[in-house]
Amino acid sequence: MKRLILLVLCVVILSGCAISHNPDNLYVYFIDVGQGDSSVLFLPGGDVMVIDAGETSEVGSLISFLNAKGVSEIDVLVATHPHSDHIGGMTELLSNYKVSQIYMPKVSHDTLVYQNFLKSIIELNIPVDQAKGGVSIFPEDSLVNATFFAPNSSKYEEINNYSAVLKVSYKDVSFLFTADAEQLSEYEMLSKGYDLNADVLKVAHHGSKTSSTKEFIDSVSPKYAVISADGISYSHPHKETLKRLEDTIIIKTYETGNISFETDGLYLKRR
Ligand SMILES: [Zn+2]
Repeated sequence: MKRLILLVLCVVILSGCAISHNPDNLYVYFIDVGQGDSSVLFLPGGDVMVIDAGETSEVGSLISFLNAKGVSEIDVLVATHPHSDHIGGMTELLSNYKVSQIYMPKVSHDTLVYQNFLKSIIELNIPVDQAKGGVSIFPEDSLVNATFFAPNSSKYEEINNYSAVLKVSYKDVSFLFTADAEQLSEYEMLSKGYDLNADVLKVAHHGSKTSSTKEFIDSVSPKYAVISADGISYSHPHKETLKRLEDTIIIKTYETGNISFETDGLYLKRR
């Protein structure tokens, strides 16, 4: 009997987590993966989007989160660029969940972790689309707009500048995911005239001073600035970046753990 009660309790708790989302709202989670990036979006209508999967050693945090939310399928997976603190967890992710579509920039990288990721994509026969400036993920009449603002060139010296930068908007509320895009990419986005304005900015490159130029931050003009880092590596976030973000509410994964937002498209709240 005790076992039965326990089982019922577990089912209630688990399904409670899975259905705790209002299906009309957009939920955005920044997962604490230490020095790396990983974001999970639950879109109105039920689609699940994952942007980056952190280092291989940190993917457990992402998988625990997805399981707790009852996720079995990922509709859109964005691999922003080939560095391991963004795609390290991808192979593990692909072996745990059915992934319908992958977006990634056209750039290759000679590391085992990246080659293994590519091998898994081929083995599982997952469709891949190129992430580049101007590409929208969903059709124009969709509830949510998700458009890439970068990369805008085909050749960069620095791999970080291949970063797929994605703006996700639901009615009046927007999130800008900048991966590790640096100054050069920021200036390209500015000169392209994209509408960079967003309520929540995932601060580029873990708060490095080589990103987040004043012009870029002014143009995004975010209310919240999310920094995904471990608070130790490379001295990220740099004090210069924090200074440039002084007019925003700065939230750091290494101080708060997972960070979550909910919006009905009109109001934005931190959960
Ligand atoms: Zn990074």
